[in-house]
Amino acid sequence: MTSYKELGLVNTKELFEKAVKGGYAIPAYNFNNMEQMQSIIQACVETKSPVILQVSSGARKYANQNILKNMARGAVEYAHELGYDIPIVLHLDHGDSFELCKDCIETGFSSVMIDGSHLSYDENVALTKKVCELAHSQKDYVTVEGELGVLAGVEDDVSSEHSHYTQPSEVVDFVGKTKVDSLAISIGTSHGRAKFKPEQCTRDANGILIPPPLRFDILEEVEKQIPGFPIVLHGSSSVPIEYVHMIEKYGGKLTDSVGIPEEQLRKAAKSAVCKINIDSDGRLAMTALIRKILVEKPDEFDPRKILGPARDELKKLYAHKNQNVLGSAGRA
Ligand SMILES: [Zn+2]
Repeated sequence: MTSYKELGLVNTKELFEKAVKGGYAIPAYNFNNMEQMQSIIQACVETKSPVILQVSSGARKYANQNILKNMARGAVEYAHELGYDIPIVLHLDHGDSFELCKDCIETGFSSVMIDGSHLSYDENVALTKKVCELAHSQKDYVTVEGELGVLAGVEDDVSSEHSHYTQPSEVVDFVGKTKVDSLAISIGTSHGRAKFKPEQCTRDANGILIPPPLRFDILEEVEKQIPGFPIVLHGSSSVPIEYVHMIEKYGGKLTDSVGIPEEQLRKAAKSAVCKINIDSDGRLAMTALIRKILVEKPDEFDPRKILGPARDELKKLYAHKNQNVLGSAGRA
């Protein structure tokens, strides 16, 4: 049994209260290896931003939970060494069972998501409530994120063909019965790098896909129902066209990539949306640089010379997100 406080981590409670009041969102960046963790911490220290280090069940399988836990401890010490102690959360992304959440709560996570969005409403309530009771009864309060509504797209172990928007009429009952600390909602964001089918989009003069706008009307209605309650957006990568082009220039193929425009996320971050999940953009940035190096330097075989530039690019991307999209820069 490890408490997150022993690792130097914090839960999301105070971070979200400040973010809702301050009109910005905390970045939730996924990680499963050292280079990603380093670039996230470098970017967040440099921009003085709080951060949520997010681990999916797929990442746990890939990297081993003990290693990830100790990397989170290392992240805290690394930030300190870089000269600025930012608040760091270790969060389980898309927990799909009580047992997985329990395991994470007992091994140093400061926050977990229980995703019962694929269940019936009543089953979602029951499962989420059970996780909250366990998380909140710990010596050090662990925060819980629930989800209402279903996002389309694919993310590690999570996938759904169709999205179902969150029904604002359900949120008061859900939050009241479960006692969740934050709520992920579905207003048109989507997992993965191809967030919409081409037929759902229009095209600009250059043939680039323009996605349908987010449903801010649903967000506003949710905010009216539960004023000031922390809202979470999943699937909020913007899928920068420069990275898609770079990947394709160096031999990749990413047909019909499209994300959520950054202006729309900036607008959402100014509301009660206080956590924005970004994963695909980081994957694209790293892959773009790795492909570039491999093609441009065919004699290179030192992984550090290949992954190092990818890490630098990832840091640049995340610093940009904190400053210009989430508004979290300067808030730590
Ligand atoms: Zn997600």
